[in-house]
Amino acid sequence: MSLDIHDHRAIGQRMSLFHLQDEAPGMVFWHPRGFALYRAVEEHIRRRVAEDGYQEVRTPQLIDRALWEASGHWVNFAEHMYQVRDGDRVMAMKPVNCPGHGQIFQRSAPSYRDLPMRLAEFGSCHRNEPSGVLHGLLRVRNFVQDDAHIFCAEEQIGGEIRRFCHLLRRVYRDFGFDSMLVRFSSRPAVRAGSDEVWDRAEAMLRACAVEAELGELEPQPGQGAFYGPKLEFVLRDVHGRAWSCGTIQLDMVLPERLGLHYIDARGERVRPVMLHRAVLGSLERFVGVLLEHHHGVLPLWLAPEQVVIASIAEDQRAYAEEIGRRLQARGARVVLDVEGSTIARKVALAHERGVPRFWAIGRREAEARSVAIRSERGSRVVPLEEAIEALVAEGSAPP
Ligand SMILES: [Zn+2]
Repeated sequence: MSLDIHDHRAIGQRMSLFHLQDEAPGMVFWHPRGFALYRAVEEHIRRRVAEDGYQEVRTPQLIDRALWEASGHWVNFAEHMYQVRDGDRVMAMKPVNCPGHGQIFQRSAPSYRDLPMRLAEFGSCHRNEPSGVLHGLLRVRNFVQDDAHIFCAEEQIGGEIRRFCHLLRRVYRDFGFDSMLVRFSSRPAVRAGSDEVWDRAEAMLRACAVEAELGELEPQPGQGAFYGPKLEFVLRDVHGRAWSCGTIQLDMVLPERLGLHYIDARGERVRPVMLHRAVLGSLERFVGVLLEHHHGVLPLWLAPEQVVIASIAEDQRAYAEEIGRRLQARGARVVLDVEGSTIARKVALAHERGVPRFWAIGRREAEARSVAIRSERGSRVVPLEEAIEALVAEGSAPP
């Protein structure tokens, strides 16, 4: 199969980031370099949600059918769920994280003082998508969502949606996307909950979108989740293509189905509202979008390998290794190229792998404790300490 060089699958192959194979259709084998990029994305979003008041959790991969029946997924989503037999029990691989988060919410015996409760999970989900729609990283069967559920009182919905939109804009900017489009998806034909609940949920979500100044909403009639309406945040890449990534869904149905409640100020049981939200959506898909958006030339903080340290002769090996150790200790991702080939070949190899920085170490650099930083404009000799500080500063995630 020959691919366009800007296709993320071609970039992935060239940079040896990941592969897919027939034995695990729609599931990704991440290679060391690809997983370094994946982790850089995950760590960044993890930091952003922690700053925003979320608590991270993890829930089981396999859950008894009974809970999926209670949540409504068994009826509304069954064809996408993988089932596993465990003796007489039927379990399902989770396609979503919501029912699991509902269990954690309820176990904490929450009161109104605990709200809003924001539970986040890098949840690995399986969905049995038809093989015909699978496409590299962009459509897969197993993916990790940067998922979270916000359990709140009705009067907190507006504030939480505004807060989420702020987080989302900030994260998209961090990753180099300046332009987004927002879609409003209303009730689907197959759904749970009464028309009265849907009327209220749709009106409330629309009003919050206006309050959050999201601009014009593109209507998507019938595209909501079975339990509630949603906003979808669509990124535009450098080619002008649209990628649906983030989402927030207003849900007054699942809390009821899962029997969730909190205790209000008067000691009464009250049903919370559940907001389902993800900033990036699927991490797999987002990495695919990133690769295409940046043509594989990622910003330094995301580059799987940030700098090549290349020595010219055997004499400089120890110095090159010392630099490598020091950079690694500061969190930089370093490749040492100390074997005996020419600098020109080492430069070409670094370029092919998409490593953005190249430091050459010759006899003069080793004696002066400096490095020769190569770029398209030529070579610049910089004292080692200065070079390390500059690389660490520029190679860190946005503050
Ligand atoms: Zn959910």
